[in-house]
Amino acid sequence: MKRIAYSELNAVEHWLDVIDPATTDVIAKVSAGTAHDVDVSVRRAQAAFPTWSKLPNAERARWLEKLADALEARIPEFAEAETRDTGKPLWLTREIEIPRAVANLRFFAHAATQFASESHHGQAGLNYTLRQPQGVVGVISPWNMPLLLFTWKLAPALAAGNCVIAKPSEVTPLTAQMLAELTHDIDFPEGVLNIVHGLGQTVGQAMVDHPGIKAISFTGSTAVGQRIAQSCARQLKKCSLELGGKNAALIFADAPKHTLYEHIVRAAFQNTGQICLCGSRLLVERRFYDEFRETFIARATHHLVGDPLAEGTYFGPLVSQAHFDKVMSYLDLARDEGARIVAGGQRVDIPGRCAKGWFVAPTILEGLGPSCRTNQEEIFGPIVTLQAFDDEDEALAMANATPYGLSASVWTEHLSRAHRMAAGIDAGIVWINTWMQRDLRTPFGGMKQSGLGREGGLEAMRFFTEPKNVCIGV
Ligand code: NAD
Repeated sequence: MKRIAYSELNAVEHWLDVIDPATTDVIAKVSAGTAHDVDVSVRRAQAAFPTWSKLPNAERARWLEKLADALEARIPEFAEAETRDTGKPLWLTREIEIPRAVANLRFFAHAATQFASESHHGQAGLNYTLRQPQGVVGVISPWNMPLLLFTWKLAPALAAGNCVIAKPSEVTPLTAQMLAELTHDIDFPEGVLNIVHGLGQTVGQAMVDHPGIKAISFTGSTAVGQRIAQSCARQLKKCSLELGGKNAALIFADAPKHTLYEHIVRAAFQNTGQICLCGSRLLVERRFYDEFRETFIARATHHLVGDPLAEGTYFGPLVSQAHFDKVMSYLDLARDEGARIVAGGQRVDIPGRCAKGWFVAPTILEGLGPSCRTNQEEIFGPIVTLQAFDDEDEALAMANATPYGLSASVWTEHLSRAHRMAAGIDAGIVWINTWMQRDLRTPFGGMKQSGLGREGGLEAMRFFTEPKNVCIGV
């Protein structure tokens, strides 16, 4: 069994199990880091900062490209590790998630050389803005897209000239550790990227509280995000929060039918519903409801739930026993709230090596109103609800009727309606006739309980730098 230490600096006293959710076998041990480990890493990062931050931008870009090359050369190995750690089907990790981690590193390598700041003149002197790195920054990521989200945060932090303390989720630490090993293989500068494994309430909290860490970029649940925001507020520490969602898909009768069902099945159930952007509330125009319902059920239940390593598997298991219990408890709640289960609604037994895995069938519910808990709270599993609306106003009111505001999708061929809906939806990201198409230059993040601030492109470069205005009297 593989044992993963946080670094070679300290002897590891406590280990956490890493579990394959498809089999429930313990496949590795990860060190349970401590506040002391965070402190040692911060001091290493502080020592590395003067040299790293003064490198020419093109040179920092070359290091990120080098890391991207090393990762790209080992995509199959990383994909298999990600699949074993998360239960995601191999096609998803091999074709989408690990290549996206490579793309993140390359994108921000380019950003390092393209990032520029403003100058203002003509009213009061000549002003220019310096954008300087913060120093040592912390990034904390969740389990649902482990390497993709980890690189999405650490790449802009490094590109902007910061040194980084990075904590992956303790639930899925394998590929973060493999990335750390890659940095050794390519002789990445010492102390610049420091990966500390461990629990959120110890390592994560120690990062948030550490006075040497100047900014925190966090992706995870709203509850933890709120705690981090409180801790950061006490210290006036900068934080960026990418949190939960309860996203709506607004499906009008004139939706483009040739691609609609394929997209909606993905939006509802990809990664077994464990994507913050999944559309878990399907709002359907009443005159199209019956037709949509019938075809959607047929298309969603046609895909195979099973061994994530097997070719042909479309849906894998939920990530952990705790998460499986949470999702199953929402099925009980939905029944208590009066839901009719029109598809799924139960555990799936997979024969063979996955007999103990945490598999749940794609589940479609109807008969619930917008204000019930099932339609208000983030479940983060393969459970969606169907609700009917009569007109645009009602669709918008239903879409906006949750505390969250991360993303939404609108399905219509009516051009001006699409724009009206996009403008009226309270969400940081709106897709029209598509889902989860991402241009890495665009701002990414949520409103309301879905977060604070934006990541992506120049927004991330801005977050990880401090603007300083310089005014020259002329
Ligand atoms: P989580 O909040 O439980 O944990 C996220 C990370 O925070 C983990 O690394 C964890 O160890 C750490 N953590 C926990 N307590 C902490 C503390 N007190 N201080 C500092 N760090 C702490 O979330 P999760 O269960 O890993 O991930 C699922 C959640 O993430 C869902 O709510 C999902 O919507 C959200 N998410 C949001 C986005 C987005 O971009 N908005 C993307 C992916 C996931």
